[in-house]
Amino acid sequence: MRSPLPDYLTEVAEACSATKGGEPASYIPELAKVDPDRFGIALATIDGEVYAVGDAEHEFTIQSISKAFVYGLAVRDHGLEQVLAKIDVEPSGEPFDELSLDASGRPRNPMINAGAITAHTLVGEPDTAPHERVERIIRLLSDLAGRELSVDEDVWRSEVATADRNLAIAHMLRSHGILTDSAEEVVSAYSRQCAVLVTARDLALMAATLANSGVQPVTGKQVFTGAQVRHVMSVMLTCGMYDSAGDWVSSVGIPAKSGVGGGIIGALAGQAGLATFAPPLDAHGNSVRGVETFGRLSRDTGMHLMKVEPPARSVIQSTRVVQRGGESMRIYYLSGTIGFSGAEFVARRLSQDPPEHHAVVLDLTGVHSVTDVGRRMLLETARRLRLDGHEVYLVDTDDVIPDADPGDGRRLPLLADQ
Ligand code: GLU
Repeated sequence: MRSPLPDYLTEVAEACSATKGGEPASYIPELAKVDPDRFGIALATIDGEVYAVGDAEHEFTIQSISKAFVYGLAVRDHGLEQVLAKIDVEPSGEPFDELSLDASGRPRNPMINAGAITAHTLVGEPDTAPHERVERIIRLLSDLAGRELSVDEDVWRSEVATADRNLAIAHMLRSHGILTDSAEEVVSAYSRQCAVLVTARDLALMAATLANSGVQPVTGKQVFTGAQVRHVMSVMLTCGMYDSAGDWVSSVGIPAKSGVGGGIIGALAGQAGLATFAPPLDAHGNSVRGVETFGRLSRDTGMHLMKVEPPARSVIQSTRVVQRGGESMRIYYLSGTIGFSGAEFVARRLSQDPPEHHAVVLDLTGVHSVTDVGRRMLLETARRLRLDGHEVYLVDTDDVIPDADPGDGRRLPLLADQ
């Protein structure tokens, strides 16, 4: 059988290529030379499968998409508290290159240039030379992509030659004591970060690393911790799409970051990394076809942050009574992934409709995984059933609740499949 995924993505690409409009970025002259019809889509799963269609292997510059990862690197190098002291995490609602700081004198968030330039200078030790910082950043981006990346020297030169706005931002940051390095050096190094060449396939894997709690799905390298990723993705969600973040969250609902090179990445925790490449941009600076594609993918796949299948109602699949050694036992067949709401449902059901039998069995054969809070709540439920005089057993052939001690010193006895 042939996987339907490539065919599906091709269909999406065909449908979305009908979307016209927008212009490739031209404020960096070299970017305006791109073929506006280029269009690629890539999706990387958290176990490292990549589906790539169209121009997904074509290289272009990462631009602002790098901001999300470099911010993560600053947090990795200095800890969240120190970084938050320098850069806030509030959506600005302003254009990406606005010369502005918040009331406390910090850039409003790391996804606008003022915050991104600050984050860039937080990479490495304070005495790290600008070229070493860039090397560290290229190392990070290469680790995320799973291959060695390089800089497009022409785009870099073109951006440096026209960087008045970013120089103004750097001087503003210097005047507030946020930057101490020379504005020219910082902007030149930051422009190299923006000029790193990637493909949509690379970007999908970089996004999938975020979706996979910081572990690159192909190489297995732990690039960020789970906590760092959660923070970066939260900021992407609220600030990642320039000044159209609110519209994006409601219509697409995937933490994302776009760049003026025409790329957009999106990552949904535990699901997948997505990337598109299509150079014409809308008035906010987001790729027109990329926005359209993400909307379509989000609708078709249900990958919207606010669309969570309600596990609670289906957690108890069925229940029945069996006879065993002359004793009757009430079995509850649980299923799905049990987190807080699923475990709450089980606890509520067992408290509101208490089992009439002495022996109670929680059959976990249909359960894929139990979150930490789910595990603690199920074990507490078992402990309370015991206090009410019940004997509680588990059927747990896949060991989804290893070491099931409800805290009263006696593990829950395991039964074979019922
Ligand atoms: N290098 C670009 C700049 O700082 C990145 C902008 C972007 O992709 O939004 O102007």
